[in-house]
Amino acid sequence: MPFKITDECINCDVCVPECPDDAISQGDQIYQIDPNKCNGCAPHYDTPQCIEACPVDCIVSAFSQDQIEQGLSSPDAATRLMIAKLSEFSPTDDQVELGLMDTDAGVRAVFAWRHSLTPAQVERCLTDENDDVRLAAAKKGNLTPEQNERGLMDANAQVRRVIAASSNLTASQIEKCLTDSDESVRAAIADNHSCGLTQAQFDRGLADAEYWLRRKFFSRKDFIPTHDQVERILTDASRHITQEIFTQKDATLEFIRRTDFTLSPAQIERGLTDESDSIRLAFIERADYELTNSQIERGLMDAVTDIRLAILNRKNSVITQSQYERGLADPDEKVRAAFALYQKIRPTPAQIETGLCDENYTIRTSFASRKDFTPSKEQLKRGLSDKSMNVRLAFAQRDDIKLTKAQIERGLTDRYSEVRAAFAQRTDFTPTAEQVERGLTDDWLFPDWTAVHW
Ligand code: SF4
Ligand code: SF4
Repeated sequence: MPFKITDECINCDVCVPECPDDAISQGDQIYQIDPNKCNGCAPHYDTPQCIEACPVDCIVSAFSQDQIEQGLSSPDAATRLMIAKLSEFSPTDDQVELGLMDTDAGVRAVFAWRHSLTPAQVERCLTDENDDVRLAAAKKGNLTPEQNERGLMDANAQVRRVIAASSNLTASQIEKCLTDSDESVRAAIADNHSCGLTQAQFDRGLADAEYWLRRKFFSRKDFIPTHDQVERILTDASRHITQEIFTQKDATLEFIRRTDFTLSPAQIERGLTDESDSIRLAFIERADYELTNSQIERGLMDAVTDIRLAILNRKNSVITQSQYERGLADPDEKVRAAFALYQKIRPTPAQIETGLCDENYTIRTSFASRKDFTPSKEQLKRGLSDKSMNVRLAFAQRDDIKLTKAQIERGLTDRYSEVRAAFAQRTDFTPTAEQVERGLTDDWLFPDWTAVHW
């Protein structure tokens, strides 16, 4: 009885139709396997179908040591294969040797994959007629230069790929991998950072027919590009490459953010006029060059909001009066809000008035917080009764303007504690006894209010 069902069975019935021998049926409590019918799926399948199907992994092997021994010497290859695959099968050295000599390639492959091999066994497996056996042996690693050489001549690209990923390749073997007809072999050597490449090899890699392979070459840390190579990469025919280089923020493609080369003015100009929004934005967000006046002007006129914002957010962008005027009237409120915070230009009274009346409360708040203007009585009155708490708070926090007693009283009774607190912290008034009493019993302020201010 090779397999049995344990108590964890949830009676889901999934395994029943999978059994080629009709060996599974419902028992008193759980499903059960008829030991006289179950033959481990041999010779129909390589693996027990019920085990693969069971969602709760409650089918386990029930082989005794004797059954395993018998199964290994069974004339039936499917049975030998099933035993070789058993998770609890831990063969002796002799059993491994016998398994590697099995007439069935599947059995040889399982032994080669699952068990450690002696150098002689590796050598024998590397010359096996079966691809899987050779691949398993190649995967063991630590091959001799001669074995690597032979492996790189293997008809099976998977074997060549495994060799291309190893760390002890000679210069000629590296060259062989780089010129392999199979792209996965070329990819393996491009990813093999233990192998140094020459500039000529990088050049060839950058010209690979596959764009994703070209990318692997210029992403290598040991690639120090010449100006010519930078230009070639930036003008790569694949849009994938340009997009990824300029827009990917994570670590895989850091090429354009490398500091060991700079972009020429022509390359910057090309990036800033790229048809892709994300590429233009990525160029503007680079901080290692200054924009010209015309590039700033073009950016501020860009149809993409984030680009207009990015221009304004650049540290060294110098905005002219007319650009400022245009920004404050931008149709997008995010841009207007950013301009409202711009401190290098002093807004005109008319611009302040427009900003304080903006429908967007962030913009009203930004203007209310500016200390480069003194609000008129009307503006103050409007601001202190603004429906937005942030605007009221911004005015309450301005210690450069004088408030009336009535305004302070209204502020001290504002329904928002932040606003009440801001008024309480003002030093331009002496609270009445009633205000002190109210303050001392204010849930939110007590007890710090008195300690800090009075
Ligand atoms: S191992 Fe195969 S034959 Fe045995 S019960 Fe499972 S599905 Fe049926
Ligand atoms: S698939 Fe698993 S859980 Fe479902 S009936 Fe069969 S043995 Fe039980």
